[in-house]
Amino acid sequence: MIKNVALIFPNKFKGGISSLAMQILHYHLNSYNDIKCDMYFIENYNDIKNKDAIIITLQYENDYFNVINIINNLKPKNPNAIFIGGGPCAMGAPFPLSNYFDAFVVGEIEGTNIMHNLINREPVETGVFYPNLNDFDTVKRIYPKSFNIEDYPLSQFTHPSGAYGEAFLLELGRGCPRRCKFCMAKSIYCPPRFKKIDDLKYIAEEGLKHTPVNKIALISPSVGDYKHIVDLCHHIKDINNDISISPSSLRADTISEELLKILNLKTLTIAPEAGSERLREYIKKDISEDDIFNALNIAKDNRIDKVKLYYMVGFPTETKEDIEEIINLSNDIKKDFRKVEVSINPFIPKPKTEFENEPFDLESKNTIKYIEKSLKKSNIKVSYENFNSMIVQCVLCRGDSDLGEIMEQYNKPVQFLKYLKKNNMLGDYLK
Ligand code: SF4
Repeated sequence: MIKNVALIFPNKFKGGISSLAMQILHYHLNSYNDIKCDMYFIENYNDIKNKDAIIITLQYENDYFNVINIINNLKPKNPNAIFIGGGPCAMGAPFPLSNYFDAFVVGEIEGTNIMHNLINREPVETGVFYPNLNDFDTVKRIYPKSFNIEDYPLSQFTHPSGAYGEAFLLELGRGCPRRCKFCMAKSIYCPPRFKKIDDLKYIAEEGLKHTPVNKIALISPSVGDYKHIVDLCHHIKDINNDISISPSSLRADTISEELLKILNLKTLTIAPEAGSERLREYIKKDISEDDIFNALNIAKDNRIDKVKLYYMVGFPTETKEDIEEIINLSNDIKKDFRKVEVSINPFIPKPKTEFENEPFDLESKNTIKYIEKSLKKSNIKVSYENFNSMIVQCVLCRGDSDLGEIMEQYNKPVQFLKYLKKNNMLGDYLK
C-alpha cells in the first residue's frame, strides 16, 4: 500500500524552495516505491488532507508559531497521520513542541530507513525522540558516517525567488572542523564529514544535467575548509564556464587568491563575530586580525569593492572595549572599500553548544543601536534582526512543553513575549 506523505516547510515558499533539507527529504522519501511525498509551504499547506504522515522540517525556532497553527489545522483533516518533526531544532531542544508531534528525528536520515519505519509506524530504537515514550537525553543521535552519491538529489526544485536564486545546491559535507563555542551547527552535525572530491564532481556534472540552471550554490558550514575546494570549482568551470559559483559562507582564513578569482565574487562576506582579538580567542572563533586583513587585501587585489561583515554582541565576558573594537575594525575596513555593510545580532545561547548555559544579554539591543549610530558617521550601513524575535528565539531554545500551550494562546511573537513579561516568566529563560 502506498503511503501518502506531506513534507512541510513551515514558512514561506521562497525560503523552503531553497532549503536543502526539503530537497533531500523529498528525494529520499520518493525513492521508496511505497511512499508518495509532496512538498508544502505556508502558502498551500491547507490543501493537505487524508495523509498517512506529515513531516515538518524545523529549521528555525521562530517558526514554532506557524508549526503549532499548521498542526492544529491539519490534525482534524488528517486523522490517521503520524506527525514527525526533524531538522536542527529537533536535534537541539524541541521541547516547546512536544505535545504536537508523535516523533522527532534526532539526526540525519541518509543511509537509514528511519523515516520509512516511522511512516509505517514500525518501532525505531535509535535517533527518535517520542515525547510520550522516551527521554530526549537518552536518544542516540543518528547520522551517516559518510555520504553515498545515490542519496543526493540530482534533480532539484528551483525558483528565482529562492534564497540562492535558480541554483543547484551542492552540499560539500556536513559538520565543521572548527571550534566556535557558540555554534550549534558544529555540535549537532559532529563529526565533520566532507564528501569525496570525485563524488562531488559527479554530482555537479549530473546535477547540472538534471537541474538546468546557471548557478551552483556550495553548501557547507565552512566552504573554504574543504581541502579540494579549488579543484572542485575548476571542475565546475570546466563543465561550463558560464556557471557561477556561490559559496554559502567563507572563513577569512580560508580565502586565497585562487579561490576568489574562480568564484569571481562581487562582495566579500566575512564573519569576525567579535571586534577584538581577545574576544575572538575567547569564543574560539580562531580568526586573527591578520587573517581578516589578509583576506581583505586579496579581495582588493581582485577588484572586490564591497565587504559585508557579520558580528554578534552580548557574548560572555564582553566589555565596552570589545564593542569599540567592532566600530574600529569596521571603520578601518571602510577606508579601503567603497561599500561596507555590517550585520549585527545578539548572541543567543544555543542548546548543545559550549555556551548553552550562558545568559542572553538584554543590553545587546542598546549595544546594537550604539554601533549603528557610530558607524553611520562613516556611511556604513548596519542591519539587524528584530530584537524581540531574538529574545523569543532564546526562550524557545530553553523552554519546555508548557510553552507550547502559551504559544497556542498567544500565537504571535509579540503577544507571547508580552505574556511572559506580564507574568514575570521571561527572566527565567534569559538568565
Ligand atoms: S566556523 Fe562557522 S560553522 Fe564552523 S564552528 Fe565556527 S561558526 Fe560554526
